[in-house]
Amino acid sequence: MEDIAARIAQIHVRIAAAARRAGRRPEAITLVAVSKTHGPALARAALAAGATDLGENRVQEAAPKIAALAAAAPRPRWHLIGHLQRNKARAAAELFDMVQSVDSLRLAETLDRYAAELDRRMPVLLQINVSGEASKEGFALAGGVANRAAYARLIADLERVVALPQLEVRGLMTIAPLVGDAEAARPTFRLLRELRDDLARRLPQARWDELSMGMTDDFEAAITEGATIVRVGRAIFGDRLDHE
Ligand SMILES: *Cc1c(COP(=O)(O)O)cnc(C)c1O
Repeated sequence: MEDIAARIAQIHVRIAAAARRAGRRPEAITLVAVSKTHGPALARAALAAGATDLGENRVQEAAPKIAALAAAAPRPRWHLIGHLQRNKARAAAELFDMVQSVDSLRLAETLDRYAAELDRRMPVLLQINVSGEASKEGFALAGGVANRAAYARLIADLERVVALPQLEVRGLMTIAPLVGDAEAARPTFRLLRELRDDLARRLPQARWDELSMGMTDDFEAAITEGATIVRVGRAIFGDRLDHE
């Protein structure tokens, strides 16, 4: 447990150093501590060590943890960062403070409907599959901005997402391909930032402030490219316990 406090402190030092190297303010970057696969005791330890934001990738795994920490003060903000099946969208709308993994128009519409039923606004990020890997979820940025027809389709979908009344679009999220070294992930991060800049021009009715990108192996490179949210699991909690 002391380990967790020391590791979180260390991540903050690295975030601050990467931000300064990039001429950015460290406070502009939020650390989401990804507690997936670990039990509520470790999530609680992260909270005690000053973590403000916790990330989970499965609704059914997160539910008991969120319940276990419901009375914690201050309570954490919970981020859903994994693929959300539409039949779990209602539970997600009840449990999470932000859904970072909105990866299709249909899911966005479903989440909007449940948020309306619950009479809440739902902050979301739109997950983008920048690299085009078939294994990755997300709105496809196939061929990038240069593929005009595909890009027009993407914009048309996103225009419908930002029109959904209960969703509060805050920005974009991506997962870089597994490439082994962080520098190799930078083009993915740069493309996400460029997409965000273009969306801010084309769809100014939404906010596009947030760029959630960078994990244990590449969060400093992501900060160099403009990340405002980094999602760090293993460097805080150690190796994952089971799935993924
Ligand atoms: C697991 C996960 C993370 C954290 O990954 P680490 O390599 O453990 O830091 C970040 N983002 C998503 C979407 C994840 O599923």
